[in-house]
Amino acid sequence: MNDRDVTYVGGAWVPLTSDARMEVVNPATEEIIGRVPEAQAADVDLAVAAARSAADAWAATDIPTRQGYLHKLRDNLVARTDELAALITTEMGAPARIAGGIQVNLPVQVVDSYLELLSTPPEPERLGTSLVVREPVGVVGAITPWNYPLQQAIIKIVPALAAGCTVVHKPSELTPLTSYLLAEIIDAAGLPAGVYNLVPGTGPVAGEALVAHPDVDMVSFTGSTRAGRRVGAVAAETVKRVALELGGKSANILLPDADHAVAVKVGVANCFLNAGQTCTSLSRMLVHTSRYDEAVERATDYAANYRLGDPTDPQTRLGPLVSAAQRARVHDLVRQAVAEGARLTTGGPDVDGLPARGYYLAPTVLADVDPDSVAAQEEFFGPVLSIIRYDDEDHAVAIANNSRYGLAGGVWSADIDRATAVAMRMRIGQVDINGAAFNPLAPFGGYKQSGHGRELGPYGLAEFQEIKSVQLP
Ligand code: NAD
Repeated sequence: MNDRDVTYVGGAWVPLTSDARMEVVNPATEEIIGRVPEAQAADVDLAVAAARSAADAWAATDIPTRQGYLHKLRDNLVARTDELAALITTEMGAPARIAGGIQVNLPVQVVDSYLELLSTPPEPERLGTSLVVREPVGVVGAITPWNYPLQQAIIKIVPALAAGCTVVHKPSELTPLTSYLLAEIIDAAGLPAGVYNLVPGTGPVAGEALVAHPDVDMVSFTGSTRAGRRVGAVAAETVKRVALELGGKSANILLPDADHAVAVKVGVANCFLNAGQTCTSLSRMLVHTSRYDEAVERATDYAANYRLGDPTDPQTRLGPLVSAAQRARVHDLVRQAVAEGARLTTGGPDVDGLPARGYYLAPTVLADVDPDSVAAQEEFFGPVLSIIRYDDEDHAVAIANNSRYGLAGGVWSADIDRATAVAMRMRIGQVDINGAAFNPLAPFGGYKQSGHGRELGPYGLAEFQEIKSVQLP
């Protein structure tokens, strides 16, 4: 049992103001694997006070000093990668075969990218008679989800520290144990007291207390559009800066000249990554009418043969969903999709033979999806692919943009220029051509109700900086 009684505030492991506890459940076994304190508003006050009192001195540190701490943080992270990967698998069900890579090594790459960026700080800018400089925003409240518990924390905490900000981190109540391990890693880097602080707790209590706090200068939030809307409203009372990284229902356009054997396979794998619990999951596959039946058949075959089961088994590709509530929600959405006319070609809520314990959901393909229906409009956050037919390029772009979200997308074609031209017409924050690899330096964020602000690389650093103009005589 992984029980914790204290949290990390002001550079020390301290008790909280109440005895309230939250249980952590392994979604593959349904067993309770740990208990952590549930921070209340008074605990958030203490953490914010610690971050506030450390803010001026941290903002005044020079770049080599910050780099030194971040180097130690990076080395400590690398030293504990196996432990982190195993814990993430236990805590939220990511299969071992992806936990080491995308869940843990990708965050290490992100730290590396900021270390490199700090090595080449931009020169102060001159605009006419003015000097334009960048300064740290101040105290940052970082609120993160459970689906990539380390990556989501690192892509906020590391650039905030690099920019000279202090941080209070509120992780998801479903994955606090990973955050405790990260707090140990940060503690071992020896940062000055109060520069980083952890408040485990629920969204409505600890999360809202952090967002509402007048001494927090900025909130960087990643999570659902529902909660992001609330965060934006609460933050508006104190007119603080807010960055929101929210949900998506991303379109993957297969142009008719694309190699469909590869495009469908990679598209399904992308959609089912992390059991479909990825904000950029390409959950809508748009296929030209001339290749439609072929694509549905390929996707169905490929999905039906996906290996589902114990996430600690290195052969497993599809682990459980994170919770019983999440599985019930996806079941309901699939039933609603079928009631609205979608054709279930494999998977769904009534599949036999799943493991007796664990929140498993069979890989699911919905064909003949109407672009206005629930299967095209709602983020399911499960291993469910919606396949939609289109007639021509304009039609494909119109379907892709027919969404309140605008996070990510894909385009496949034998002609890169043609694919890029289609990509330019999509109202989304990032788009991959022919399954191109994730780039940890590229700005990451959404249009429309997928949020605002950008993470990663130089844009992610700028997010935590204020801009000051100094008019020179
Ligand atoms: P969630 O919105 O339920 O919770 C996210 C975080 O917000 C948690 O820490 C939670 O405690 C907190 N929270 C909830 N209500 C709050 C409130 N009123 N005030 C302050 N904090 C509050 O989301 P989740 O279920 O943890 O994550 C899944 C969602 O996150 C999906 O919609 C997914 O698309 C999105 N997501 C987006 C990105 C991105 O970069 N765009 C990345 C990962 C996940």
